[in-house]
Amino acid sequence: MGDSAAWDAIAADAIVVGAGPAGAVAARRLAEAGLDVLALEAGPDLRAHPAAPLPAWRLPLWEEENGGAVSPARRIPADDGAAGAGVAQVWRGRGPGGSAAINGAAWTPADPRALERWPGSEGEGWPERYARGLERAEATMRPVAVPASTLAGALADALGRPLEPGRLTIASEAGQQSGSQASLGTSPEGSRRNPWTAYAPESAGARLRCGARVRSLLLSGGGRPRVGGVLLDDGSRLIAQSVVLAAGAIDTARLLRAAAAELEDRRLGGPAELLAAAGTNAREHPEILVDVPAALAAELRRPDPPGILCGRIPLDIAGRRLEVRPYEVPFDVAVAGPTVGASSGLSAGVPAGPLADSGVPLQVGVALLDPRSASVVDERAVRLSDRPDASDAVALGAGAEAIGAALVEIAGLRGMERRGPGGGELRRHRGYSQHLYGTAPMGITTDVEGRVPGLEGLRIVDASVIPTGPGLGIGAGPYASVLAVAEELSTQLAGELAG
Ligand SMILES: Cc1cc2nc3c(=O)[nH]c(=O)nc-3n(C[C@H](O)[C@H](O)[C@H](O)COP(=O)(O)OP(=O)(O)OC[C@H]3O[C@@H](n4cnc5c(N)ncnc54)[C@H](O)[C@@H]3O)c2cc1C
Repeated sequence: MGDSAAWDAIAADAIVVGAGPAGAVAARRLAEAGLDVLALEAGPDLRAHPAAPLPAWRLPLWEEENGGAVSPARRIPADDGAAGAGVAQVWRGRGPGGSAAINGAAWTPADPRALERWPGSEGEGWPERYARGLERAEATMRPVAVPASTLAGALADALGRPLEPGRLTIASEAGQQSGSQASLGTSPEGSRRNPWTAYAPESAGARLRCGARVRSLLLSGGGRPRVGGVLLDDGSRLIAQSVVLAAGAIDTARLLRAAAAELEDRRLGGPAELLAAAGTNAREHPEILVDVPAALAAELRRPDPPGILCGRIPLDIAGRRLEVRPYEVPFDVAVAGPTVGASSGLSAGVPAGPLADSGVPLQVGVALLDPRSASVVDERAVRLSDRPDASDAVALGAGAEAIGAALVEIAGLRGMERRGPGGGELRRHRGYSQHLYGTAPMGITTDVEGRVPGLEGLRIVDASVIPTGPGLGIGAGPYASVLAVAEELSTQLAGELAG
């Protein structure tokens, strides 16, 4: 950034803000259409960092190293509205790959039932577009089928539901060539496939600048409000024909809200009201974690899992969609780095000390995949389930009861007496899935191509555009969907700009 100066320069045909999964897809598809693409990434370039090849059962979430200079993730404290008192930790990846450089690598495409209600275009609906985007995303990300644990199988049997085997976006030559699982595990082959590295936009001619945080969008009025470029933290103003937002659900929403304030202040016209509402109706997948009693866990745990989650059990209770997650490792093992124990990132609302000290060797989660509670992202804060819907807690509670009963049955089948830490009760913790999405949802903030009506020069292609509302959402983890949707939106934009 030392060579950048505070004058306007035509930087590229398209500026992509954020080098996470959506940014990788956009930069690749735009560059291969012959466009001059500049991707700006706030975080440092950690692709050659020793932590980069950590196996997918370790989440490299630490926040401080050398004063925070090379941290692969940042932690955002979030109020947990539903639980009342808890402060959840929302983690986000920074650097090429974004959150996919630190995530659980679980590849779970959207539930087709949810896609049918997504806003349709005149030509094709989202079920068709999603299928095409997913096919392209899978051709690049190459998810590998992995075997689930004995615990997962036993739970599925006890619940009387089919176990959906897991797929992980991990680099495994053996797995990709033959489906063999022989070499998966703690070897570097079990490390995540970073979407930036996999999409390799630079090989199609795109440029990537790390340590370049976009502070705001450059707006102009004159009757037709448009985004003409971006302002960086160092004061540089970079101009482009099109700005593509891929900064993730939190930061994209904040950039949009800042744009709303500026449209208003400078009386530029345009969709200020629409943009000011970004982040006000987002979704997360709340989760309850149930501790597996130590004796049972000792029997069911496997030593060398390829990922933190290698299978899931879909569970419908009273018309609500839940997912049982037999985690393969305890979180204080999965969360590597200097802050382990002080911040068990995936167990929001759980006092970290007791969890770390309890010796709990395994946990089973149950997450709600069609949440009605709205989460909120504004300029200063992230508030999970800020507008709670009481039915969410009821559905989750029923899911946790089902897990408890299943664990008792499994223990009984193995001739074990069940004893939990709380006088026979199975201990539960409230958590979140790190799945925030829908801060600028399609059909509300954007049209079906990620355009904001009334504001030219801007596209939004990341997790923020996933639709929210009754019967909408994805019914699954967002990673595969973010890539599938970004494929479609970016290919459409590439055609428009290049054509
Ligand atoms: C710990 C963790 C585990 C997860 N596990 C799973 C899983 O197993 N399965 C699953 O389906 N999903 C999982 N997810 C969710 C999934 O990783 C995200 O949904 C996905 O990464 C979102 O992609 P994105 O491109 O929208 O944004 P992000 O991945 O957040 O990428 C955004 C990028 O933009 C950059 N950026 C932000 N602001 C600016 C700015 N102003 N200027 C320039 N750059 C900026 C960021 O540094 C980042 O690199 C997990 C997430 C986390 C955090």
